[in-house]
Parts: sequence; structure tokens; C-alpha cells
Amino acid sequence: MSNARSPRRRLSTAQADVAAVLGPLDGSAIPGGCDHCDAYQTTRPVAAGVWALTVRHDGGCPVLAASRTHRSDQDPAP
Ligand SMILES: [Zn+2]
Repeated sequence: MSNARSPRRRLSTAQADVAAVLGPLDGSAIPGGCDHCDAYQTTRPVAAGVWALTVRHDGGCPVLAASRTHRSDQDPAP
């Protein structure tokens, strides 16, 4: 019986390397991520061997404000 269609495929070397670094950090608050505020970062798996890294800025961070302005500029007109 082949396991080619198994949902538990082997990770590539790069995915395994990322998993080894970020896997143990799931649910952790990692200090840093922004030079303009007291930010922290969180990680979460989004697919096999793929993690999302999110920077959590302080509410008054100028980088966060600029990001929100940029995003609202990108929104389509109603
Ligand atoms: Zn910030």
C-alpha cells in the first residue's frame, strides 16, 4: 500500500528546519519585532511546515498607524 496520498507527508528539509525553530515557540510571546514600540511576536502553524509570524505592536506605534493608513488606502471604494 502506497502512502503517496497520506495526509501526513514528509516535510522538505526547509520546512523541517522551520518546524524545528518555530514549532517550540507556538503560543509564546517573543519580544521585539519593531524598533518603534515595545512589540512582541507570535507564531502559529498555518500548514504543514509553514508558520505565520505576527508582530503585535503597541497601540500608539507609528509603524502600526502607518500600516493601517496604507491598508485603508488599498481597500476598494464602497
Ligand atoms: Zn511598533
